[in-house]
Amino acid sequence: MTAPAGQPYDYRRRPLAEPDWTRFPGWGDVTAAQWESAQWQRVNCVKNVKQLRAVLGDLLDERFYTDLETDQQRLATMSMLLPPQMLNTMVPDRVPDTDAFYADPIRRYMLPVATDRHLDWPSHPHATRDSLHEHDMWVAEGLTHRYPTKVLAELLATCPQYCGHCTRMDLVGNSTPAVDKLRLSLKPVDRYDAHLSYLKAHPGVRDVVVSGGDVANVPWRQLEAYLMGLLSVPTVRDIRLATKALAGLPQHWLQDDVVEGLHRVAITASRRGVNLAVHTHVNHVNSLTPLVAKAAQTLLDVGVRDVRNQGVLMRGVNATTADLLDLCFALQGEAGILPYYFYMCDMIPNAEHWRVPVWYAQQLQHDMMGYLPGYATPRIVCDVPFVGKRWVHMVSEYDREHGISYWTKNYRTSIEQDDDEALNKLFAYYDPIDTLPQSGQDWWQKQIASD
Ligand code: SF4
Repeated sequence: MTAPAGQPYDYRRRPLAEPDWTRFPGWGDVTAAQWESAQWQRVNCVKNVKQLRAVLGDLLDERFYTDLETDQQRLATMSMLLPPQMLNTMVPDRVPDTDAFYADPIRRYMLPVATDRHLDWPSHPHATRDSLHEHDMWVAEGLTHRYPTKVLAELLATCPQYCGHCTRMDLVGNSTPAVDKLRLSLKPVDRYDAHLSYLKAHPGVRDVVVSGGDVANVPWRQLEAYLMGLLSVPTVRDIRLATKALAGLPQHWLQDDVVEGLHRVAITASRRGVNLAVHTHVNHVNSLTPLVAKAAQTLLDVGVRDVRNQGVLMRGVNATTADLLDLCFALQGEAGILPYYFYMCDMIPNAEHWRVPVWYAQQLQHDMMGYLPGYATPRIVCDVPFVGKRWVHMVSEYDREHGISYWTKNYRTSIEQDDDEALNKLFAYYDPIDTLPQSGQDWWQKQIASD
């Protein structure tokens, strides 16, 4: 008799666990009270190789530290900034050694090293610093108007943690040897006033994504004033707060002043019939711990209508069906966070080793269907330059040999208001070259040689 075929993915409920931080030599004496303090977490962030050594010591050999230093000096588009909470989710179930640390999925995107990068094609020839042209679409400093009814408000250019693949690497974080960052020039209060003026003058904009950077780095009083300002504009109907810190530094969202302030904002939003939600950015199930779940539940308890996840699809991190489903089941079933989107990693410099081709993203979407509740089945989307989010199955034409997909759109961005042809054009997105057949790779080599 043959064994039953079974399912491609085998769901089992797995409770969340806080990894034991005392397994790291530098944190052997850290108490639970210290660990749960946002201030302790911020003061003890790891910002350079020396500080990483102070935490991990000789658990890692010199090979890793040198590899990290090389990346920071030559290739990194983001500087290093890791709250202990995030570092503690790397190799969570044992004392790490060098090989386990190299292989860890969260390490691979939060603490990239030079040998992670793709040697032949570190960047796609069409990679750009502001790959989504958000800056080009600023209608006021930090306010991107790309979709007809929605704006993205970048309140500041910092985060409590820096992700190696950050799509806003043009603006966010400290400059690195590879990238001299843009700087916001207005005082915050003037920037925020300019945003409100634009919204008052444009009643067709109903939806504001309040981001950065990460709103967890806006002093709470400033953020509350900004949100109350938005809530005073009667045409604003949706407000979404973007914060990876919900997973990277959940201690921030559990502070009394933040919880009480968010409660005031949520009550005001509810009275005015505005949908207030929090969007976070979790890429791997190991990031979800009881503290993250507690922070998410606290947001819901104070009246935030929903907490949703927008992850990024990356090779070596989460680009398998099992990784994505493990994460989604833990988000949905254990942390009270709705799996919402997975974005394909954008075409920024030195990101080719993370990116996946469109056909592969389509396959992952196919393979995820049918396991989660329908409303909690995330869409995998491609953020096509000059277009915006497109579900990966919406591709219009696809040249697999050269890895060029073509997409259409059904609205004009703010820089195309007078462009009669904008809705008739095809817009290109490019697969990573190392995933192409040899003939496609040769074609790109020739293109570059002839430029
Ligand atoms: S939290 Fe978001 S904005 Fe900040 S570095 Fe990560 S991806 Fe970029």
